[in-house]
Amino acid sequence: MARVLILGGGFGGVVAAESLAKGLGNEHQITLISRSRRFVFYPALVQLAFGKCELDDVSFDLRETMLSRRVSFIEAEVARIDPDARTVTTAHGETEGKHFYDYLIYALGRRLATERIPGFYEHAHHLLDVDKALKFAKAVENFNEGRAVIGQCPEARLPVPVYETAFALSRLLEERGVRDRARITIVDPDQVGFQCGDAVAAGALTNALATHGIEFLSDFPIDRVTPGAAITSNGQAINFNLLMLLPPFRGSSAASYLGITNQEGYINVNAAMRVVGLERMYAIGDCVNFSGPKMGHMAVRQANVAAANLVAEIGGHEPVSSYIHEMKLVIDEGGADSIYLHKDLWVDEPSSVRQGRFWSWAKRAQEKYWEAVHF
Ligand SMILES: Cc1cc2nc3c(=O)[nH]c(=O)nc-3n(C[C@H](O)[C@H](O)[C@H](O)COP(=O)(O)OP(=O)(O)OC[C@H]3O[C@@H](n4cnc5c(N)ncnc54)[C@H](O)[C@@H]3O)c2cc1C
Repeated sequence: MARVLILGGGFGGVVAAESLAKGLGNEHQITLISRSRRFVFYPALVQLAFGKCELDDVSFDLRETMLSRRVSFIEAEVARIDPDARTVTTAHGETEGKHFYDYLIYALGRRLATERIPGFYEHAHHLLDVDKALKFAKAVENFNEGRAVIGQCPEARLPVPVYETAFALSRLLEERGVRDRARITIVDPDQVGFQCGDAVAAGALTNALATHGIEFLSDFPIDRVTPGAAITSNGQAINFNLLMLLPPFRGSSAASYLGITNQEGYINVNAAMRVVGLERMYAIGDCVNFSGPKMGHMAVRQANVAAANLVAEIGGHEPVSSYIHEMKLVIDEGGADSIYLHKDLWVDEPSSVRQGRFWSWAKRAQEKYWEAVHF
């Protein structure tokens, strides 16, 4: 019998657990540990912030779902991993202590490094978790005039909610009849669409932003925030009445002392999703060291690759599946300017871009699909 521990109940951890439950015989033990028993469908948090859905529509109970797949669930904080003793120590949860494993799948996501931007915690909103999205929703309720600044700090790796927030805010202000009283500016350390692919993607985004009268300020690397201004490393400042900013991302802390990460704390893995330099350990999702944005569809694909290879390893075979690093994203503009982008990030070829109302619908349908298939 093999004991498999999966750390993290997000896209990567949940899909890995389901995939292993299907691929491994009943004699093996699968346990998922996560700090919360709620799974949150993060791509819907912009909709949540703009009142287009309720919290219950975008989060689900993990324990019940996992049990129905014969996966044990433990709600606890992962504090420490000891690869020599093959143990994971948990704290602050329903169990505190050591959990032994034969194989480990690490899927603890990324960390928000807000401490790197002085003033961020006090003066900026973000919407990268449920509480912050609901707090931002309150600020949006009271915003009817002035300047809204929306953007990413250097080393944030998630362009989609930035564009979607700008489009949603523009539509909301139009509905309220006050769009002409507000200025919406996206700030970014790079050029428009930089993380979304290439010039083809940038062109589609530029047109969509122009349709909504949304400005784009490029080469604007914010490194501190004061009560009314966001300031760059070279001293440029932009004043705001409403600020939604994604902080820098870093790898998850629980792996930081294991000698398996790059400088930003992301875990080095090979195409089989095995951790480089450690036996019996796989890593998937936002926590791994791959280029480009950090996206849920990548975590799902990596989870399936890791699960297939772990089933093979337990059976004494070589890896059977390899990950290909592709980006597929939908930026939901709420209507005909919604954009679908696809790019193979390990091959130097132009991205493919499609545009139309269909992609807005497809993104919402995907959320319902997730709910139906996984919960
Ligand atoms: C607003 C928003 C919009 C997005 N839009 C899109 C989109 O349109 N398309 C797309 O593909 N992706 C999108 N993403 C990105 C996507 O959600 C992530 O890439 C995905 O969630 C990564 O999955 P993961 O399993 O690696 O990490 P996560 O989903 O972050 O899961 C990590 C899990 O580990 C738990 N955890 C972390 N540390 C510990 C610890 N020490 N102990 C115990 N548990 C711990 C967390 O609570 C969480 O359950 C969006 C994200 C956000 C926030």
